[in-house]
Amino acid sequence: QQQQLLSLKDLPCRTLDGTDITLLGNISGAADLEGVFDHFGMGAGLLRTEMLFMGRNNFPTEEEQFQFYKAAALQAMGKPVTIRTIDIGGDKQLPYYALPVEQNPFLGYRAIRLCLGEWKDIFRTQLRAILRASAFGQLKVMFPMIANLQELRDAKSILEAEKQALKMEGIPYNAHMAAGIMIEVPSAAVMADMLAKECDFFSIGTNDLCQYTLAADRMNEKVAYLYDPYNPGVLRLIANVIAQGRRHHIPVSLCGELAADPTATLLLLGMGLRQFSMSAASIPAIKHIILQRSVEEAENIYEQVMQMGTTQDITQYLQAVTP
Ligand code: PEP
Ligand code: MG
Repeated sequence: QQQQLLSLKDLPCRTLDGTDITLLGNISGAADLEGVFDHFGMGAGLLRTEMLFMGRNNFPTEEEQFQFYKAAALQAMGKPVTIRTIDIGGDKQLPYYALPVEQNPFLGYRAIRLCLGEWKDIFRTQLRAILRASAFGQLKVMFPMIANLQELRDAKSILEAEKQALKMEGIPYNAHMAAGIMIEVPSAAVMADMLAKECDFFSIGTNDLCQYTLAADRMNEKVAYLYDPYNPGVLRLIANVIAQGRRHHIPVSLCGELAADPTATLLLLGMGLRQFSMSAASIPAIKHIILQRSVEEAENIYEQVMQMGTTQDITQYLQAVTP
């Protein structure tokens, strides 16, 4: 098995009927990129910046962040790295900044909400650091937890202001750096057609999309039986996001745990997904499946699944068609 996976290394990641698929890694910093490339990944589809903010006693300065993002850009050697702006709140806390205690932290003041509110200066600093680092590689920026068009517009206008500031100061940055959003709030999945017109790419966060769609806390064991990415309601949302992204000619990636689940690979291919981002160790197994199957077959599988009304039927069927 190990030998078989190693032989995957030099083959392009292409389906039997000739469609190229991009497999990317989820990382927390430049050091993780080596593992991604070792496992045949082609860059990073999600750099979570929480770690950079969490393991310390104060906010990282612009310079510290710049060095951190620049290291990722250089380490990627021309391959893409998608940096997600800070997604703190919910389950993730900082030791040096007390967020208000909330009744429902996952439904509360977190991620982009904080960045467009109390943390506007911290958000500006982060965007400035990312922009400066964008001069050193193929960086993209991504906003988490977008729930409506206005949030996207507000985030983009702050990004634009920071670009102008850097320009005035004569500091280099990539003026064409792609800016995209996580689709992980159900309203964003439903509004994907409108959102697609105003951003450069989507990345589907199935971990949060699943918990919000099914109203089942992803950390709560008591409702773990409800938390289910194969729920047909969740699948319809995912399919809509992929279809709208394609219709509006923007790339769509999926960076939640579902991307690493071999049972989901053909279904997602059939929906039209062409980019998957996951932990490095999961990449070879997914590549192995892609090389052996066709998009035509995957589209048939997707069509079948959309006729099914329960998770049990769907997962049983998918397991039967997955090696
Ligand atoms: C997600 O929600 O699916 C995701 C990739 O982000 P995180 O797990 O960091 O919330
Ligand atoms: Mg998320």
